[in-house]
Amino acid sequence: MNADPTVLIVDDEKHNRQLLTELLQHECRLHLAKNGEQALARARELQPDLILLDVVMPDMNGHSVIRQLKDDDRTRDTPVIFITALDSFDDQKIGLELGAVDYITKPFHPPIVRVRVRNHLRLVEQRRLLEQLAMLDNLTGIPNRLRFAETLEQEWRRCLRHALPLSMIVADIDHFKRINDTYGHAEGDEALRSVAQALKWAIHRPGDFVCRYGGEEFVLLLPGADEAGASAFAEAVRQRIATTPFQTLDGQPLQLTLSLGGASHVPTTSSVSDALFHAADRALYDAKHAGRNRVVWANSSLTPNEASAMQAQAAIPFARPC
Ligand code: GH3
Ligand code: MG
Ligand code: MG
Repeated sequence: MNADPTVLIVDDEKHNRQLLTELLQHECRLHLAKNGEQALARARELQPDLILLDVVMPDMNGHSVIRQLKDDDRTRDTPVIFITALDSFDDQKIGLELGAVDYITKPFHPPIVRVRVRNHLRLVEQRRLLEQLAMLDNLTGIPNRLRFAETLEQEWRRCLRHALPLSMIVADIDHFKRINDTYGHAEGDEALRSVAQALKWAIHRPGDFVCRYGGEEFVLLLPGADEAGASAFAEAVRQRIATTPFQTLDGQPLQLTLSLGGASHVPTTSSVSDALFHAADRALYDAKHAGRNRVVWANSSLTPNEASAMQAQAAIPFARPC
Protein backbone atom coordinates (compact mmCIF):
# COMPACT_ATOMS: atom_id res chain seq x y z
CA MET A 1 0.00 0.00 0.00
CA ASN A 2 1.12 3.54 -0.61
CA ALA A 3 0.45 4.83 2.88
CA ASP A 4 0.55 2.56 5.91
CA PRO A 5 -2.65 0.54 6.08
CA THR A 6 -5.08 1.44 8.84
CA VAL A 7 -6.46 -1.17 11.22
CA LEU A 8 -9.21 -0.62 13.78
CA ILE A 9 -9.05 -2.82 16.88
CA VAL A 10 -12.35 -3.22 18.73
CA ASP A 11 -12.23 -4.87 22.14
CA ASP A 12 -13.82 -3.96 25.47
CA GLU A 13 -10.85 -5.32 27.44
CA LYS A 14 -7.91 -3.00 27.76
CA HIS A 15 -5.49 -5.91 28.10
CA ASN A 16 -6.54 -7.31 24.70
CA ARG A 17 -6.26 -3.92 23.04
CA GLN A 18 -2.75 -3.54 24.43
CA LEU A 19 -1.73 -7.03 23.36
CA LEU A 20 -2.92 -6.50 19.80
CA THR A 21 -1.35 -3.04 19.66
CA GLU A 22 2.06 -4.43 20.63
CA LEU A 23 1.66 -7.19 18.10
CA LEU A 24 0.62 -5.06 15.12
CA GLN A 25 2.10 -1.62 15.71
CA HIS A 26 4.91 -2.16 13.18
CA GLU A 27 2.55 -3.55 10.52
CA CYS A 28 0.04 -0.72 10.25
CA ARG A 29 -1.48 2.43 11.74
CA LEU A 30 -3.71 1.37 14.61
CA HIS A 31 -6.88 2.90 15.99
CA LEU A 32 -8.74 1.58 19.01
CA ALA A 33 -12.38 1.35 20.03
CA LYS A 34 -13.62 -0.10 23.31
CA ASN A 35 -17.28 -0.65 22.47
CA GLY A 36 -19.61 -1.16 19.52
CA GLU A 37 -20.78 2.43 19.35
CA GLN A 38 -17.23 3.75 19.19
CA ALA A 39 -16.34 1.08 16.63
CA LEU A 40 -19.11 2.17 14.24
CA ALA A 41 -18.22 5.86 14.59
CA ARG A 42 -14.48 5.23 14.00
CA ALA A 43 -15.13 2.87 11.09
CA ARG A 44 -17.27 5.49 9.30
CA GLU A 45 -14.87 8.30 10.02
CA LEU A 46 -11.52 6.54 9.40
CA GLN A 47 -12.51 4.09 6.65
CA PRO A 48 -9.92 1.59 7.94
CA ASP A 49 -8.46 -1.10 5.71
CA LEU A 50 -9.31 -3.82 8.22
CA ILE A 51 -11.26 -4.20 11.47
CA LEU A 52 -10.39 -6.68 14.23
CA LEU A 53 -13.64 -7.15 16.09
CA ASP A 54 -14.35 -8.76 19.44
CA VAL A 55 -17.73 -10.50 19.73
CA VAL A 56 -18.58 -10.48 23.44
CA MET A 57 -18.88 -6.86 24.54
CA PRO A 58 -21.39 -5.10 26.79
CA ASP A 59 -24.17 -2.97 25.19
CA MET A 60 -23.56 -3.90 21.56
CA ASN A 61 -21.92 -7.20 20.65
CA GLY A 62 -19.69 -7.84 17.64
CA HIS A 63 -22.51 -9.44 15.66
CA SER A 64 -24.60 -6.26 15.91
CA VAL A 65 -21.57 -4.21 14.97
CA ILE A 66 -20.81 -6.20 11.81
CA ARG A 67 -24.50 -6.12 10.78
CA GLN A 68 -24.49 -2.34 11.00
CA LEU A 69 -21.17 -2.11 9.16
CA LYS A 70 -22.61 -4.20 6.33
CA ASP A 71 -25.74 -2.04 6.23
CA ASP A 72 -23.79 1.15 5.63
CA ASP A 73 -22.40 2.04 2.18
CA ARG A 74 -19.37 3.68 3.78
CA THR A 75 -18.27 0.53 5.62
CA ARG A 76 -19.90 -2.33 3.70
CA ASP A 77 -16.67 -3.38 2.00
CA THR A 78 -14.36 -2.99 4.99
CA PRO A 79 -13.05 -6.47 5.84
CA VAL A 80 -13.71 -7.63 9.39
CA ILE A 81 -11.87 -10.34 11.30
CA PHE A 82 -13.60 -11.63 14.41
CA ILE A 83 -11.19 -12.19 17.25
CA THR A 84 -13.09 -13.80 20.07
CA ALA A 85 -13.24 -16.32 22.91
CA LEU A 86 -16.34 -17.87 21.33
CA ASP A 87 -14.66 -20.88 19.77
CA SER A 88 -17.35 -23.41 18.85
CA PHE A 89 -17.89 -24.40 15.20
CA ASP A 90 -21.34 -22.82 15.40
CA ASP A 91 -19.90 -19.52 16.62
CA GLN A 92 -17.37 -19.54 13.79
CA LYS A 93 -20.05 -20.39 11.24
CA ILE A 94 -22.27 -17.53 12.45
CA GLY A 95 -19.37 -15.07 12.37
CA LEU A 96 -18.32 -16.00 8.84
CA GLU A 97 -21.92 -16.02 7.61
CA LEU A 98 -22.35 -12.48 8.94
CA GLY A 99 -19.64 -11.46 6.49
CA ALA A 100 -16.37 -11.66 8.44
CA VAL A 101 -13.39 -12.51 6.23
CA ASP A 102 -11.70 -14.52 8.98
CA TYR A 103 -12.23 -15.82 12.50
CA ILE A 104 -9.52 -15.99 15.17
CA THR A 105 -10.19 -17.61 18.53
CA LYS A 106 -8.76 -16.44 21.85
CA PRO A 107 -6.38 -17.17 23.39
CA PHE A 108 -4.66 -16.40 20.11
CA HIS A 109 -1.21 -17.30 18.95
CA PRO A 110 0.48 -13.90 18.27
CA PRO A 111 2.57 -14.87 15.19
CA ILE A 112 -0.52 -16.40 13.55
CA VAL A 113 -2.56 -13.24 14.15
CA ARG A 114 0.21 -11.12 12.67
CA VAL A 115 0.45 -13.26 9.52
CA ARG A 116 -3.32 -13.39 9.06
CA VAL A 117 -3.60 -9.61 9.36
CA ARG A 118 -0.72 -9.19 6.91
CA ASN A 119 -2.38 -11.55 4.41
CA HIS A 120 -5.70 -9.76 4.61
CA LEU A 121 -4.04 -6.37 4.17
CA ARG A 122 -2.31 -7.70 1.06
CA LEU A 123 -5.68 -8.81 -0.33
CA VAL A 124 -7.11 -5.35 0.37
CA GLU A 125 -4.21 -3.78 -1.53
CA GLN A 126 -4.68 -6.11 -4.49
CA ARG A 127 -8.40 -5.39 -4.60
CA ARG A 128 -7.74 -1.63 -4.59
CA LEU A 129 -5.24 -1.97 -7.42
CA LEU A 130 -7.71 -3.97 -9.48
CA GLU A 131 -10.45 -1.41 -8.82
CA GLN A 132 -8.15 1.38 -9.95
CA LEU A 133 -7.08 -0.50 -13.08
CA ALA A 134 -10.70 -1.25 -13.95
CA MET A 135 -11.33 2.50 -14.04
CA LEU A 136 -8.46 3.35 -16.40
CA ASP A 137 -8.54 3.19 -20.17
CA ASN A 138 -5.78 0.79 -21.13
CA LEU A 139 -4.90 2.47 -24.43
CA THR A 140 -4.46 6.05 -23.21
CA GLY A 141 -3.97 5.59 -19.46
CA ILE A 142 -6.58 8.25 -18.62
CA PRO A 143 -9.81 7.42 -16.71
CA ASN A 144 -12.44 5.44 -18.58
CA ARG A 145 -16.22 5.56 -18.82
CA LEU A 146 -16.66 3.65 -15.56
CA ARG A 147 -14.71 6.26 -13.61
CA PHE A 148 -16.64 8.96 -15.48
CA ALA A 149 -19.98 7.62 -14.25
CA GLU A 150 -18.70 7.58 -10.68
CA THR A 151 -17.13 11.06 -10.93
CA LEU A 152 -20.20 12.59 -12.58
CA GLU A 153 -22.42 11.42 -9.71
CA GLN A 154 -19.97 12.74 -7.11
CA GLU A 155 -19.56 16.12 -8.79
CA TRP A 156 -23.27 16.40 -9.47
CA ARG A 157 -24.00 15.93 -5.76
CA ARG A 158 -21.22 18.34 -4.76
CA CYS A 159 -22.46 21.06 -7.14
CA LEU A 160 -26.03 20.48 -5.94
CA ARG A 161 -24.95 20.95 -2.31
CA HIS A 162 -23.01 24.14 -3.05
CA ALA A 163 -25.34 25.50 -5.77
CA LEU A 164 -22.45 25.54 -8.26
CA PRO A 165 -22.61 25.11 -12.03
CA LEU A 166 -21.32 21.88 -13.51
CA SER A 167 -20.05 21.98 -17.08
CA MET A 168 -19.53 19.01 -19.34
CA ILE A 169 -17.77 18.84 -22.70
CA VAL A 170 -18.01 15.90 -25.10
CA ALA A 171 -15.14 16.02 -27.61
CA ASP A 172 -14.86 13.82 -30.67
CA ILE A 173 -11.97 13.61 -33.13
CA ASP A 174 -13.05 14.65 -36.61
CA HIS A 175 -12.83 12.14 -39.44
CA PHE A 176 -10.82 9.79 -37.30
CA LYS A 177 -11.68 6.83 -39.47
CA ARG A 178 -9.54 8.44 -42.19
CA ILE A 179 -6.51 8.41 -39.85
CA ASN A 180 -6.86 4.66 -39.42
CA ASP A 181 -7.52 4.17 -43.12
CA THR A 182 -4.61 6.36 -44.23
CA TYR A 183 -1.92 5.57 -41.65
CA GLY A 184 -3.06 2.31 -40.10
CA HIS A 185 -4.51 1.33 -36.74
CA ALA A 186 -1.24 1.72 -34.81
CA GLU A 187 -1.00 5.37 -35.86
CA GLY A 188 -4.68 5.75 -34.95
CA ASP A 189 -3.92 4.44 -31.49
CA GLU A 190 -0.99 6.81 -31.16
CA ALA A 191 -3.19 9.74 -32.19
CA LEU A 192 -5.70 8.75 -29.48
CA ARG A 193 -2.91 8.73 -26.90
CA SER A 194 -1.74 12.16 -28.06
CA VAL A 195 -5.22 13.68 -27.84
CA ALA A 196 -5.71 12.11 -24.40
CA GLN A 197 -2.43 13.65 -23.19
CA ALA A 198 -3.30 17.05 -24.68
CA LEU A 199 -6.67 17.04 -22.90
CA LYS A 200 -5.08 15.88 -19.67
CA TRP A 201 -2.62 18.76 -19.81
CA ALA A 202 -5.37 21.23 -20.68
CA ILE A 203 -7.29 20.69 -17.44
CA HIS A 204 -5.67 22.29 -14.45
CA ARG A 205 -8.17 23.04 -11.70
CA PRO A 206 -8.66 20.60 -8.84
CA GLY A 207 -11.83 18.65 -9.59
CA ASP A 208 -11.50 19.02 -13.38
CA PHE A 209 -11.73 15.63 -15.01
CA VAL A 210 -11.16 14.04 -18.41
CA CYS A 211 -11.86 10.51 -19.59
CA ARG A 212 -11.92 8.49 -22.77
CA TYR A 213 -15.60 7.78 -23.09
CA GLY A 214 -15.07 5.29 -25.90
CA GLY A 215 -13.61 5.10 -29.43
CA GLU A 216 -12.37 8.59 -30.37
CA GLU A 217 -14.68 10.37 -27.93
CA PHE A 218 -13.57 12.10 -24.73
CA VAL A 219 -15.61 13.71 -21.94
CA LEU A 220 -14.47 16.54 -19.69
CA LEU A 221 -16.13 17.68 -16.48
CA LEU A 222 -15.51 21.17 -15.14
CA PRO A 223 -17.19 21.53 -11.73
CA GLY A 224 -17.78 25.14 -10.72
CA ALA A 225 -17.29 26.44 -14.27
CA ASP A 226 -20.25 28.25 -15.83
CA GLU A 227 -21.10 28.42 -19.52
CA ALA A 228 -18.85 31.44 -20.19
CA GLY A 229 -15.79 29.88 -18.53
CA ALA A 230 -16.31 26.36 -19.81
CA SER A 231 -17.07 27.35 -23.41
CA ALA A 232 -13.97 29.59 -23.47
CA PHE A 233 -11.97 26.61 -22.19
CA ALA A 234 -13.47 24.35 -24.88
CA GLU A 235 -12.60 26.90 -27.57
CA ALA A 236 -9.02 27.12 -26.28
CA VAL A 237 -8.74 23.31 -26.43
CA ARG A 238 -10.16 23.26 -29.94
CA GLN A 239 -7.69 25.89 -31.13
CA ARG A 240 -4.75 24.18 -29.50
CA ILE A 241 -5.54 20.83 -31.12
CA ALA A 242 -6.25 22.47 -34.48
CA THR A 243 -2.94 24.34 -34.55
CA THR A 244 -0.54 21.85 -32.96
CA PRO A 245 0.31 18.87 -35.15
CA PHE A 246 0.96 15.56 -33.39
CA GLN A 247 3.86 13.35 -34.31
CA THR A 248 3.07 10.06 -36.00
CA LEU A 249 5.10 6.99 -35.01
CA ASP A 250 7.14 7.71 -38.16
CA GLY A 251 7.85 11.22 -36.90
CA GLN A 252 5.57 12.89 -39.46
CA PRO A 253 3.35 15.82 -38.40
CA LEU A 254 -0.33 14.89 -38.21
CA GLN A 255 -2.97 17.58 -37.84
CA LEU A 256 -6.17 16.59 -36.10
CA THR A 257 -9.26 18.59 -35.25
CA LEU A 258 -11.91 18.13 -32.58
CA SER A 259 -15.61 18.88 -32.49
CA LEU A 260 -16.82 19.77 -29.02
CA GLY A 261 -20.30 19.90 -27.54
CA GLY A 262 -20.80 21.47 -24.14
CA ALA A 263 -23.50 22.02 -21.57
CA SER A 264 -23.60 23.80 -18.21
CA HIS A 265 -26.15 23.44 -15.49
CA VAL A 266 -26.57 24.21 -11.80
CA PRO A 267 -27.92 20.88 -10.49
CA THR A 268 -31.25 20.97 -8.69
CA THR A 269 -33.14 18.26 -6.87
CA SER A 270 -35.40 17.89 -9.92
CA SER A 271 -32.68 17.69 -12.60
CA VAL A 272 -30.64 14.61 -13.46
CA SER A 273 -27.02 14.20 -14.49
CA ASP A 274 -27.90 12.07 -17.54
CA ALA A 275 -29.64 15.10 -19.00
CA LEU A 276 -26.42 17.10 -18.83
CA PHE A 277 -24.65 14.41 -20.82
CA HIS A 278 -27.42 14.24 -23.40
CA ALA A 279 -27.36 18.02 -23.78
CA ALA A 280 -23.58 18.04 -24.36
CA ASP A 281 -23.81 15.06 -26.72
CA ARG A 282 -26.57 16.73 -28.68
CA ALA A 283 -24.42 19.88 -28.95
CA LEU A 284 -21.56 17.71 -30.26
CA TYR A 285 -23.92 16.33 -32.89
CA ASP A 286 -24.76 19.90 -33.90
CA ALA A 287 -21.04 20.78 -34.07
CA LYS A 288 -20.44 17.86 -36.43
CA HIS A 289 -23.33 18.87 -38.62
CA ALA A 290 -22.29 22.50 -38.69
CA GLY A 291 -18.98 21.48 -40.30
CA ARG A 292 -16.75 20.03 -37.48
CA ASN A 293 -13.71 21.66 -35.81
CA ARG A 294 -15.95 23.85 -33.66
CA VAL A 295 -17.55 24.24 -30.24
CA VAL A 296 -21.32 24.25 -29.83
CA TRP A 297 -22.89 24.93 -26.46
CA ALA A 298 -26.28 23.63 -25.39
CA ASN A 299 -28.83 26.15 -24.25
CA SER A 300 -28.93 25.47 -20.52
CA SER A 301 -31.07 28.44 -19.48
CA LEU A 302 -34.29 26.57 -20.00
CA THR A 303 -37.38 27.06 -17.92
CA PRO A 304 -38.89 23.77 -16.70
CA ASN A 305 -41.64 24.11 -19.34
CA GLU A 306 -39.15 24.67 -22.13
CA ALA A 307 -37.12 21.75 -20.87
CA SER A 308 -40.19 19.49 -20.89
CA ALA A 309 -41.08 20.65 -24.38
CA MET A 310 -37.56 19.95 -25.62
CA GLN A 311 -37.57 16.64 -23.89
CA ALA A 312 -40.73 15.76 -25.79
CA GLN A 313 -38.74 16.45 -28.96
CA ALA A 314 -35.95 14.20 -27.63
CA ALA A 315 -33.69 17.23 -27.50
CA ILE A 316 -32.19 18.58 -24.25
CA PRO A 317 -34.06 17.12 -21.30
CA PHE A 318 -32.70 19.02 -18.29
CA ALA A 319 -35.77 18.41 -16.19
CA ARG A 320 -36.55 15.04 -14.66
CA PRO A 321 -39.51 13.49 -16.45
CA CYS A 322 -42.69 13.92 -14.37
P1 GH3 B 1 -16.70 12.13 -37.35
O1 GH3 B 1 -15.96 13.33 -37.74
O2 GH3 B 1 -18.12 12.16 -37.81
O3 GH3 B 1 -16.60 11.85 -35.88
O4 GH3 B 1 -16.06 10.91 -38.13
P2 GH3 B 1 -15.13 9.77 -37.57
O5 GH3 B 1 -14.46 9.09 -38.70
O6 GH3 B 1 -14.22 10.33 -36.51
O7 GH3 B 1 -16.17 8.88 -36.82
P3 GH3 B 1 -16.63 7.41 -37.07
O8 GH3 B 1 -17.57 7.13 -35.91
O9 GH3 B 1 -17.15 7.22 -38.45
O10 GH3 B 1 -15.33 6.55 -36.93
C1 GH3 B 1 -14.68 6.41 -35.72
C2 GH3 B 1 -13.47 5.59 -35.93
O11 GH3 B 1 -12.71 5.45 -34.74
C3 GH3 B 1 -13.78 4.20 -36.40
C4 GH3 B 1 -13.06 3.30 -35.44
O12 GH3 B 1 -12.42 2.26 -36.09
C5 GH3 B 1 -12.06 4.22 -34.81
N1 GH3 B 1 -11.66 3.79 -33.48
C6 GH3 B 1 -12.44 3.58 -32.40
N2 GH3 B 1 -11.71 3.13 -31.37
C7 GH3 B 1 -10.42 3.04 -31.79
C8 GH3 B 1 -9.20 2.63 -31.20
O13 GH3 B 1 -9.13 2.24 -30.02
N3 GH3 B 1 -8.09 2.68 -31.95
C9 GH3 B 1 -8.12 3.10 -33.25
N4 GH3 B 1 -6.98 3.12 -33.93
N5 GH3 B 1 -9.26 3.47 -33.85
C10 GH3 B 1 -10.40 3.45 -33.14
MG1 MG C 1 -15.05 11.15 -34.76
MG1 MG D 1 -17.38 9.02 -32.76
